[in-house]
Amino acid sequence: MFLSVFDMFKVGIGPSSSHTMGPMVAAARFLDAMRAAPFACHGLRASLHGSLAFTGVGHATDRATILGLAGFHPETYVAEAAEAELARIKTDHTLHPDGLPALRFDPDSDLIFDYDRALPGHANGMILMATDAQGDVILQETYYSIGGGFVLTEAELEAGKATDEGAPVPYPFKSAAEMLDMARASGLSIAAMKRANEVSRHGDINFRTRTARIWQVMTDCIDRGLAGDGILPGGLKVKRRAGGIHRALLAERGQNLSAPHTINDWISAYAMAVNEENAAGGQVVTAPTNGAAGVLPATLRYYLDHVPGAAPSHVEDFLLTAAAIGGLVKFNASISGAEAGCQAEVGSAAAMAAAGLCAVMGGTPEQVENAAEIALEHHLGMTCDPVRGLVQVPCIERNGLGAIKAVSAASLALRGTGDHFVPLDACIETMRQTGQDMSEKYKETALGGLAVNVPNC
Ligand code: SF4
Repeated sequence: MFLSVFDMFKVGIGPSSSHTMGPMVAAARFLDAMRAAPFACHGLRASLHGSLAFTGVGHATDRATILGLAGFHPETYVAEAAEAELARIKTDHTLHPDGLPALRFDPDSDLIFDYDRALPGHANGMILMATDAQGDVILQETYYSIGGGFVLTEAELEAGKATDEGAPVPYPFKSAAEMLDMARASGLSIAAMKRANEVSRHGDINFRTRTARIWQVMTDCIDRGLAGDGILPGGLKVKRRAGGIHRALLAERGQNLSAPHTINDWISAYAMAVNEENAAGGQVVTAPTNGAAGVLPATLRYYLDHVPGAAPSHVEDFLLTAAAIGGLVKFNASISGAEAGCQAEVGSAAAMAAAGLCAVMGGTPEQVENAAEIALEHHLGMTCDPVRGLVQVPCIERNGLGAIKAVSAASLALRGTGDHFVPLDACIETMRQTGQDMSEKYKETALGGLAVNVPNC
């Protein structure tokens, strides 16, 4: 099993990695299948199922699917061009992806929200169809968006396809226990083992350049969010708050006015800035998902801007350590809210961030594993119930609180020896089982919890 740093941290667009990025990636894959087909296609159709149907409008799944079928991709997405293209498609009813003829597509009739039929493989299913001149389906594929922007076809899901098809890596740990055993045997940190794995796949220069870009996009996203103001789209009239909190914190600085716990407001402001950008459809990095994208950058920014002795040269180790933990959670449980609730998204993000912070503050591998476990343990059972299906309430604030828990978890772990009661592997397995037992109402369907108890019109 090898999940790269670049599997966990993908540059994309908001508001959701599973509901926005995933469908756009699926559409790109289907266009490739059409390009490879030995016959000409004349039109396109798409149906969304399960959670993609129930919370699709709030998560912009419709827009992402249409834009994906028009040839847009999360990594290279330009918002202005996308808006212009959506407006054109609405009136022209044609798509013009590169390498294919003009394709008929009427968003009103060719994009179907199928609320009645969930697909068997995963809560986030979609079927993409190409049609001939008569409108009959001549090519069809089912895709599942399994969280964090990962997409599998029906056959790949059935085959249990891991994302790994490359050569073996030097430290192929599949559990936290294996990771600690390999760290002890090699004398290396978790980051050093993960770096060796990454370099064996990507080469040193490529790995460094891409990792630097990941952090640049993350920190730029914080800055854009802190500069933002106004009301978020979607109809809930949720105000952007990160900028105002940040301005107040800057004004209080040096005046001896603040209580010590004010540091939590800094951490929250950084996280909320990212998630407000995400809710506005801006550019974010999955960490491990869009909905949980604020936790890790906020924790890293807290470290760089507020912890004495912090150094930008530690960013890579932070990301490597966090990705190692995220890979374990994804491989052994889930990072998808639609599969296991918010414990899998914000919980996983907090575990990753806690591990990263603990590592760059000098934690041993055992302390790092402890930090991840503390952070995940105290998110167990957390449901996913976004109001009106928008990744805004409770998601934005929740990222702030997730980051605060991550910082506390790292701090507690650093005050111990690494010896602790609940192993991270047991905690990850508990999260998997809890997710399995959780009612579907609490798995990104907006059919339970806050989504039905908060008046939202
Ligand atoms: S409640 Fe959590 S899992 Fe659900 S959309 Fe919000 S951040 Fe994602």
